[in-house]
Amino acid sequence: MSEASYRGSCQCQAVVFDATLDLDHTITCNCSRCQRLGSVLSFAPADKFHLQKGADALTEYRFNTKKIGHQFCKICGIEPFAYGETPDGAPTVAVNVNCLDGVDPRALKSAHYDGRSR
Ligand SMILES: [Zn+2]
Repeated sequence: MSEASYRGSCQCQAVVFDATLDLDHTITCNCSRCQRLGSVLSFAPADKFHLQKGADALTEYRFNTKKIGHQFCKICGIEPFAYGETPDGAPTVAVNVNCLDGVDPRALKSAHYDGRSR
């Protein structure tokens, strides 16, 4: 498989986005946040992510190293994506695959990331 375009949203649809993603490369993570959320993540360069609506509905949360800006809807509480950077400093978006239309995240073979030990 290769890249395809997906639409995603929070639960209440206040936040809607589209992104070009390669769902052959997703991760799950056991850090203190991802484990609680059950996040399945796919990473895209910032220019392949477009927030269609909901900038005013989002609020940001940062923890630990504070490098990742977790975005969640202040109406329904869902975190559809997070802003971050690649190790070489390029802006990237971590999309929560659970929020994409027409995708079964449990059917993906996600790599496991040991965020708890970092
Ligand atoms: Zn919402």
